[in-house]
Amino acid sequence: MVLPGYNDISTGFVTGKLICVQIVDNLGFYMSTEELFRKDGYLRECQAKVIASSDNAFCVDQTVFYPNGGGQPGDSGYVLVDGVRHAIVDCHFVDGQHRHILEEGVLPPDIGQEVILTLDWERRYRLMRMHSCMHMLCASVPAGVTGGSINEDRARLDFDMQDVLDKDELTRELNKRVDENHILSLHWITDAELENNPDLVRTMSVGPPKNSSGMVRLVQFGTADLQPCGGTHVNSSGEIGKVRVKKIEKKGKHNRRVIVVFDDAE
Ligand SMILES: [Zn+2]
Repeated sequence: MVLPGYNDISTGFVTGKLICVQIVDNLGFYMSTEELFRKDGYLRECQAKVIASSDNAFCVDQTVFYPNGGGQPGDSGYVLVDGVRHAIVDCHFVDGQHRHILEEGVLPPDIGQEVILTLDWERRYRLMRMHSCMHMLCASVPAGVTGGSINEDRARLDFDMQDVLDKDELTRELNKRVDENHILSLHWITDAELENNPDLVRTMSVGPPKNSSGMVRLVQFGTADLQPCGGTHVNSSGEIGKVRVKKIEKKGKHNRRVIVVFDDAE
């Protein structure tokens, strides 16, 4: 299979089309938020121009903040406006907009203002490690995924299967793939190419992430895993660190829920 728009994230260069989201400004013009985290998950800060604001939220022309989606929560961090730092408590993707949410009572910056956005990097990096660990989990369990969620301390995937999974064996499998240090690479394919390769899609309940450009991003970890994904990942599986399967729950006849934590967790 030929994968056009190959991207080697270590060079920070993307040949595929950037994902942009169209929003309409006050005058009815379409404006875009460039999602910088799609091509480089390690960007912690960026300058940006405010293109929409309301109540305690604002949108910008480009951002390093990942908005909640695909089981991964929205980023938190700070915005610097006229030398004053305000907390960003969440980032939501609503009605085609990336809404950077400020604390209750904080007024958003005005449209046209230049601001600096800074991530709570410690939290984001844990999310990247945990999210990437879910790719290793996918590679370790031969079944379709029916759901999942990720946070900075733990993550889970639900698998469509009836077989019994062994906690210790799965922990060993996971850590083996972590230790094998599979390198991340990103590839872009068209919606049509994805439709012709349905085996790539592991999630059964939700479709792959799509965008207005008609391109889908494939996330590959070396020989371990390849699937469409819109989240943020570490550059190699070794960065995930040691993990542990905390619990395997039987959720109905055809559903096994696997909960994973970092090994230093209780
Ligand atoms: Zn992913």
